[in-house]
Amino acid sequence: MSRYNVLYLTSELYPFAKVGGLADVAGTLPKVLKEQEHDIRVFLPKYKVIRDRKYNLREVIRLRDIEVPLGDQTFTVSVKSGFVPDSKVQAYFLEYKPFFDRADIYIDPKTGEGWKDDALRFALFSKAALETLKVLFWQPDLVHVNDWPGALAPYYLKTAYKDDPFFENTRSVMTIHNVAYQGSFPAEVAKDVFPETEKFDKNHPGFLDGKVNFLKAGIESADLLTTVSPTYAKEIISSKELGAGLNDVLKKKKAHLFGVLNGIDDTVWNPETDKHIAENYSVDEMDGKAACRAALIEEMGLENPENMVIGMISRLVEQKGFDLVRDAAEELLKLPVNLVILGSGQKDIQADLEKLAEDNPGRVAVKIDFDDALAHKIEAGADAFLMPSRYEPCGLNQMYSLRYGTPPIVRSTGGLADTVKEYTVKKGEGNGFLFKNAAEKDLVAAVKKATTVFKNAEAWKKLQHNGMVVDYSWSSSAKMLISVFDQAMEEAVA
Ligand code: ADP
Repeated sequence: MSRYNVLYLTSELYPFAKVGGLADVAGTLPKVLKEQEHDIRVFLPKYKVIRDRKYNLREVIRLRDIEVPLGDQTFTVSVKSGFVPDSKVQAYFLEYKPFFDRADIYIDPKTGEGWKDDALRFALFSKAALETLKVLFWQPDLVHVNDWPGALAPYYLKTAYKDDPFFENTRSVMTIHNVAYQGSFPAEVAKDVFPETEKFDKNHPGFLDGKVNFLKAGIESADLLTTVSPTYAKEIISSKELGAGLNDVLKKKKAHLFGVLNGIDDTVWNPETDKHIAENYSVDEMDGKAACRAALIEEMGLENPENMVIGMISRLVEQKGFDLVRDAAEELLKLPVNLVILGSGQKDIQADLEKLAEDNPGRVAVKIDFDDALAHKIEAGADAFLMPSRYEPCGLNQMYSLRYGTPPIVRSTGGLADTVKEYTVKKGEGNGFLFKNAAEKDLVAAVKKATTVFKNAEAWKKLQHNGMVVDYSWSSSAKMLISVFDQAMEEAVA
């Protein structure tokens, strides 16, 4: 098997900086590939939250004051070095304080929207990553980028560095974690981020509907593309809505797009070793789960402890289907269920949820926050886990739930459809409950079915067991990804 040198570009990486699932994936996959003896190194911005002392980051003299040309400007950046905790994965942190030493990674707290200069921030991120490689004299076989923040690296490899002998044998792979986030900016920024461009028009790879589109530039430029589940790979090609305006572009790349399901980090999400939860447990010894349940009920102030406790943990954005929960709440709460919701994000969804909790004390508990420890407690303490997503590229929480014996109730879309199979009491097969349409009555029907099975202790035990015994780690997906890398390298030779 080939061993590759891979530079992995990511705008999030757990535990340094996390907003959503990308951080979990970036915190795990490189570790797995490193264990398989690939020389994979990660590159991310040094945000304000990433403290040198906490993570033992070091200055590297060679990586100080690197000049990065971008359009008419030259940025002087530094790169610090460290390791992904509990691993030998080398991590490089792009330090450019005017861009990254800010209160939040993506969102300007003053406006509640993306930072105004995001195009330049993340164009610099990609360009600086490639310049750093040259300073290091480290030639990667592959530059593996994630989502729009890293999407210009494949583009620069095909433009600014096209004839650079240093990158002669370097190929690029881009993973799309969510096609709806594209890095779309007014055409005026084209001169800064696409400096080689003579004319910015529909023939330019980064042009979409008159705007600069980072993700499209990446799709058009990367040698191969992956996305995070097989079903989502099909959905973004076949559906205008789910392809978010890029379905035709993706369709052209169909032969180069692979759906590789994300895995989970078993060292972080494992009820046998989880340090955040009241008591550890395993598929063979489930008593600890009851203690976790009791602790959650107590902490969240829930009444009627016999009710099925349904957990939700999520970014509060439209994608996640909270409007369905809000609209179905009256019917849902006629069932013997309690809801525990942890989330942060859009203010309107936040307000809806807070109102729901206010109107239903003891039945609905809502915490508006980003709270990693509570997320673990919910996975362990809830009876079931709800994900009514309108779309879901992969979703990690349903896999965590399966691992924690907390059967998921999900809408059948994207990675949810790939990982959750309908449970039937008769056959004792399946690991959760699915509903097809994003409609209140379908959601309620699925929850209702879950409550019926929940009353049948034997059947529920079997359901939990089915979920807990499956391996959701990266082991098989990492193999698939390596075969994508193989193909990228082979195509390069051809
Ligand atoms: P997405 O990437 O769309 O946000 P995923 O299901 O792939 O969705 O991953 C979400 C990750 O973020 C999970 O690890 C989940 O536990 C975590 N998460 C989301 N919201 C919160 C929150 N408010 N507090 C703690 N963890 C959260």
